[in-house]
Amino acid sequence: MKKDMCGMFLPEITAAILPVGLEKYRARQIAEWLYQRGASEFSEMTNLAKKQREILAEHFLINSVRVLDRQHSQDTKTSKFLLELEDKHTIETVLMRQPYGNSVCVSTQVGCGMGCLFCASNLHGLMRNLTAGEILSEILFINNYLKNQEEKVNTIVIMGSGEPLANYEHVIKFIKLCHEEYSLNLSYRNITLSTCGLVPGIERLIQEKMPINLSISLHAPNNEIRSRLMPVNRTFAMEKVLAAGDYYGRETGRRVTYEYTLIKGINDSRENALELARKVAGQLASVNLIPVNPVPERGLMRPDLAVINNFEQILKSKHINVTVRREMGTDIQAACGQLRNKNLPG
Ligand code: SAH
Repeated sequence: MKKDMCGMFLPEITAAILPVGLEKYRARQIAEWLYQRGASEFSEMTNLAKKQREILAEHFLINSVRVLDRQHSQDTKTSKFLLELEDKHTIETVLMRQPYGNSVCVSTQVGCGMGCLFCASNLHGLMRNLTAGEILSEILFINNYLKNQEEKVNTIVIMGSGEPLANYEHVIKFIKLCHEEYSLNLSYRNITLSTCGLVPGIERLIQEKMPINLSISLHAPNNEIRSRLMPVNRTFAMEKVLAAGDYYGRETGRRVTYEYTLIKGINDSRENALELARKVAGQLASVNLIPVNPVPERGLMRPDLAVINNFEQILKSKHINVTVRREMGTDIQAACGQLRNKNLPG
C-alpha cells in the first residue's frame, strides 16, 4: 500500500524520498506544498521535475477530504462541513469566525466510544481513529476554503467528534505538525484540546511540554451525577480528574477550562452550583457554562435563562472565573455529531 505523505514530519519526508532518488532539499519543497499551499496531488508541485512528481505519485499518496455537505449559520459566522475520508467514512469540521480570527473545531475519531449521554457523536459508537494526516487535512481543507478571502485558520480547538486522548499518538503528532515552521507555524497557545477526563492521558500530555490550552469536560459537581452523564467517570472518578486538571495548571502555568453543560433538572440547581464552586476553588482554572444543545429523545433540555444566569452568579459570588458559552451554530446542528448523524444511513 502507498504511504500517506500528508502527516509526515520533514525528516520523515526526507527519509521517504531519498530511497526513490529525490534530493534531500526536495523534502522542504514537498512539505511546503502539502502544508502551506494545500496541494492535493503531486502533479501540482511544479517546482519539482515532472519525472520526480511521477515517482512520488507512484510510491506515495496524499490523503485528502471531499466535502459532502455544508451548512452556514444565518449570521454566516459558523460553517459546518461534512467531509468524506479516503475510506468513505465521514467526519465533521466546523469553522467559527471569531472576533480574534478563524477558529476551527476538528474531529479526531470517526464516531466516539465514550458514550456521554448528551452527545450525538457516539450514537453509532467508535468506528476508528483518525491519523495525524487526516486531522491535519481538516485544517488544510478550511485553509483552501478561506484562500479566496486571503484568510487562513488562526486557532484550533480539538473539540469535534471523538476523544482526542483516546487517539493519543496521532493527536500529538497533529499538534506538533501544526506548530512546525514548514507547516502551519501555529503557536501552541492557539491550540486547545478538550478531553472527557482520561487521567493518564492528561498526565502524559503534561510531559510533552507543549503549552497548549486544556479543556476538561466536567459537566457535574459530583460523581453520582457525573457517572450518570459520562460513563468514563466510572473509570476515572471526578476527584482524579480535578487533581489532574490542577496538576496541568501548576505544571504548565496555563489556565484549565472546565466545561459544564447545563441540563435542566439534572445539574443546574443552586446546590449543584455551590458544590461545583467548592470543588474547583483554589485552582488556576475557569468554568465554561454551556447551555446544552437539546437531545429531546433523551429528555435533555436547556434550563431557562434565569436559571443559567443564577448558576453563573453563584459561581461568581464564590470567586470562580466563569463564562457562559456564546451561542454559535445551533441553527445548523453544529453541535457534536449532529450533521454526521443526519447523513448516516438508517
Ligand atoms: N471528547 C472530548 C471532545 C469532544 S466533545 C470531550 O469530551 O471534551 C466537545 C465538547 O462538547 C465537550 O465538552 C462535550 O461535553 C460537549 N458536548 C457534547 N454534546 C453536547 C451537547 N448536546 N450540548 C452541549 N455540549 C455538548
